[in-house]
Amino acid sequence: MLKNGKKYGVILLFIIFITCLYSFFSLQNAGDTPKSKTGLFLGTVINITIYDELSEHEFENICANIFKCLEEIEDKMSVNIEDSEISKINKNAGIQSVTVSPETFYVVNKGKYYCELSDGAFDITIGPLVNLWGIGSERANLPSKENISATIKHIDYNKVLLDEGNNSIYLMQDNMRLDLGAIAKGYAADVVRDYLIEKNVENAIINLGGNIYALGSRANEDHWNIGIQNPVEPRGAYVGIVHVSNKSVVTSGIYERYFMHEDKRYHHILSPFTGYPVENELASVSIVADQAIDGDGLSTTTFSLGLKNGANLLETIEGVDAIFITKNNEVYITSGLKNNFTLKNSDFTLKKTIIDEEL
Ligand code: ADP
Ligand code: MG
Repeated sequence: MLKNGKKYGVILLFIIFITCLYSFFSLQNAGDTPKSKTGLFLGTVINITIYDELSEHEFENICANIFKCLEEIEDKMSVNIEDSEISKINKNAGIQSVTVSPETFYVVNKGKYYCELSDGAFDITIGPLVNLWGIGSERANLPSKENISATIKHIDYNKVLLDEGNNSIYLMQDNMRLDLGAIAKGYAADVVRDYLIEKNVENAIINLGGNIYALGSRANEDHWNIGIQNPVEPRGAYVGIVHVSNKSVVTSGIYERYFMHEDKRYHHILSPFTGYPVENELASVSIVADQAIDGDGLSTTTFSLGLKNGANLLETIEGVDAIFITKNNEVYITSGLKNNFTLKNSDFTLKKTIIDEEL
């Protein structure tokens, strides 16, 4: 009897020991589990995932402040908000200049820089054309040729007058409309990154509808693995993985927003020259850069320029790398990604680096 009692005692102690051990490890894991929050701002899904150990309260507080910040950016820069600063500039086209916040001035100024860099393939006065097509909205339609040629007459970044001393912006011709859709999300990603750094967050992934900023690195590693979306598959299917730390990875492609008409795909990156969606060999371009605003500006710019001209432009810019994916499943990377990109999908062929390849 006594012998049996001793045996049960040992079993009981063993169970208690295992339970304690389990609790200890689950607690450890609980601390290591990333915390994630999703919201809808700037017309897209925003996700913030923080990998540092934070209390629930700290995390909720940080996210609330980030979402407030994003709402403020949207209130200033969205064309869909009646009294945003951009809407005010548009309403005053051909009438008078409008004084704006330093933030809006900074983004418009950056946007104009990419217009100049691309000789107008990227143009922040694309607004009237974006409006005509309505791609991404319920009223997406194929406009008439006449409407398209009449509309592109209102696109001209040279007629955006910027007065740095007064933070004022003037569109010199009526019917002109600014549209910051190609650059504002990148700016927002940088603002979120700066806020996280200010709050001493070291490891996080910021995802603003495909505009990613990878802060710090994965646990026990010196980088993050960021998937490069397969342009012809649903979200989450990757062509390859880029290994980065403290960098933005921003993609522009034919898959983001589009509509189908008589078996033809009409996507949302429009040519200011033809008035139709940009047609070239590219399915997507991903830019790896220090600042997401540059990544965003350059991904749309290089996509608009096409593989050869886009790659040539990138060669002139320091500290920026790219992954170009063509419609016939070829993947071109810039030399800086030679050791930082892994192809994961055998339907695609990794060509030699862009500068090695005869384009
Ligand atoms: P996403 O917004 O899907 O991340 P982009 O950054 O490439 O993709 O921006 C596309 C948006 O930029 C379009 O929805 C439109 O608002 C605007 N846009 C379209 N064509 C051009 C262009 N040629 N130059 C500048 N902006 C453009
Ligand atoms: Mg862009």
